[in-house]
Amino acid sequence: MKVLVIEDTVTSATLVCHQLTKMGLSASHARDGASGIEMFRRERPDLVLLDIIMPGMDGFEVAHRIRQLEEAGDWTPIIFLTARASDADLQRAIEVGGDDYLVKPVSEVVLKAKVSAMQRIAQMRSALLVLTRKLDDANRELTRLSSVDGLTGIANRRRFDETLLREWRRTSRAGQALSLLIVDVDCFKPFNDNYGHQVGDECLKAVARTLEQRLRRPTDLVARYGGEEFAAILPETAIDGAIGVAELMREGVESLGITHRFSLAASVVTISIGVASTVPGRGDETGISRLIKAADDALYRAKDLGRNRVVSAADAIELEAGLSA
Ligand code: GH3
Ligand code: MG
Ligand code: MG
Ligand code: MG
Repeated sequence: MKVLVIEDTVTSATLVCHQLTKMGLSASHARDGASGIEMFRRERPDLVLLDIIMPGMDGFEVAHRIRQLEEAGDWTPIIFLTARASDADLQRAIEVGGDDYLVKPVSEVVLKAKVSAMQRIAQMRSALLVLTRKLDDANRELTRLSSVDGLTGIANRRRFDETLLREWRRTSRAGQALSLLIVDVDCFKPFNDNYGHQVGDECLKAVARTLEQRLRRPTDLVARYGGEEFAAILPETAIDGAIGVAELMREGVESLGITHRFSLAASVVTISIGVASTVPGRGDETGISRLIKAADDALYRAKDLGRNRVVSAADAIELEAGLSA
């Protein structure tokens, strides 16, 4: 432990340094405030013993400047050395950032007691800092985990719900379009039944990765919506752009070339996508479930039409009209 003694009276300084050395500590001495601050900056001691009355800069000012030199979270104990401990002096000493005081001439026993007390506090404090840092890390990891899907590593349903609400509000304020894609793996039950659940899981991971790679903007999000269903939120994107992204995703999954001999749609794993788009009304959050429903309906239409395709809500409505006409 390094101790810095800032004291203008040489006899007092010599005595204190001698006592510190006897305790097995390394002591350095500065004879005035300015050089004390300079040594503090250079040596970063673990403890400062600081005289109050010194020519030029007094101890109060030195303590104040030392506290300013410390980075956030740093703390070097400062013990004031004083000939007479008046209440006013002590109050000031605490105000400027002092931690304790010693009355001169310094008794060896009292010095030893106070130095050990400060050492203990410093040790507990650094242990606490380590613990706090670990807790912070753990909290960050928890936050991350609570929004990530365990199997695929992409966003989970919870993050999807939060993001959709946030983007709904944001785009409604900006008067911009918001698009939603709902993606479902085609004939995934027979894939699982025939190739096994583990192969099924690997397939879902590959699909998730591919969907994510097709996003173009930092505000776009793709999430695992349920078992073999995914959903993408595309803010500030109108229907044509959204259909374009969906088509890229569909092509991407098809070109993974994952063999699927039991699919009704193709000889490889494919996806169907329902796309819906709207300009969210200000303050109208009931529109969120209508948007989801529209994308879902479009997805069912894509399944009906033979899978491995992209259908937009507008197409779906036209098709309905055509069917009932
Ligand atoms: P469609 O083309 O009409 O979507 O047919 P499908 O077989 O994909 O539809 P269905 O909803 O009947 O099947 C979904 C299947 O997805 C059920 C289950 O076997 C599988 N599945 C859901 N979640 C998981 C998962 O986490 N891992 C694996 N391996 N399979 C899953
Ligand atoms: Mg003095
Ligand atoms: Mg499904
Ligand atoms: Mg499916």
